[in-house]
Amino acid sequence: MKIDLHTHTFISDGALSPQALIDRAVERGVDMLSVTDHDTTDAYKELGANEQRIKLITGVEFSTQWRGMGIHIVGLNFDLNSPAIKEGVARQEQARAKRAELIAERLQKKKLAVDFQRVKEIAGGKHIGRPHFAQHLVELGSAKNMQDAFKKYIGDGKAGDVKQCWAEFDEVVSWVVGGGGCAVIAHPDKYKMTRTKLVALIDDFKAVGGVGVEVVSGRQLTNSVKGMARLCYEKGLLASCGSDFHQASSWSEVGSMAAFPKQCQPIWESW
Ligand code: AMP
Ligand code: MN
Ligand code: MN
Ligand code: MN
Repeated sequence: MKIDLHTHTFISDGALSPQALIDRAVERGVDMLSVTDHDTTDAYKELGANEQRIKLITGVEFSTQWRGMGIHIVGLNFDLNSPAIKEGVARQEQARAKRAELIAERLQKKKLAVDFQRVKEIAGGKHIGRPHFAQHLVELGSAKNMQDAFKKYIGDGKAGDVKQCWAEFDEVVSWVVGGGGCAVIAHPDKYKMTRTKLVALIDDFKAVGGVGVEVVSGRQLTNSVKGMARLCYEKGLLASCGSDFHQASSWSEVGSMAAFPKQCQPIWESW
């Protein structure tokens, strides 16, 4: 079985439409897929319940913070119509819109000629994310490329890194649990935490109802997968895997990731 439980569409910061993403996943032989856009489930409005070619699992990637660090929580296999999920998505969509205004103000204070209307246009009107700001900074000539824009202006700890708008960690998990779903710590590797800190995050996460960790994510080194697998096993968590696909490139493809570690308990077997 080829399983990908972390992907994005152009509704958030991916490149493909929901239908194009499904088509691509089918072409690549993916059997089970979750579309996990940032803080929105709008992709599912466009996806037919009568999709026969692939098993679709409802999903979302919520932004939150823990001890001042930006953390992403993937919610999987919930009821799209549950009040908890509806409330969560509505709250985060509002937070994201407000945050975008704050990011624009902060960048303008840095003497950058950021045009908020243009950023909105790049984002397609709604669900504005930092990559849309990055694209605008590149077209303004203020950054060489996306990576450079993150490094200089909007990445961790920079002026455009606004985290205070997001709902609290426990609240985000409660929306997923309230919707009958599974909450999973997304791409633990990306936070560049010490093991001690990661263990603290996992313990706090479990205490508020979290059940899983993404032991395999996108372009991850074998050693890191092994480390995450061990931690996942020791902590009695379920394991998830996802490409975190945004757009096709030589190093990113839907359904492509390191092998799933044998000692881990697959989250999808709990469904
Ligand atoms: P946001 O959801 O607005 O906080 O934006 C976070 C998104 O920005 C992530 O999901 C990635 O898609 C993207 N991202 C984060 N860091 C970088 C980077 N250094 N270069 C390019 N894209 C990045
Ligand atoms: Mn993204
Ligand atoms: Mn993420
Ligand atoms: Mn993601």
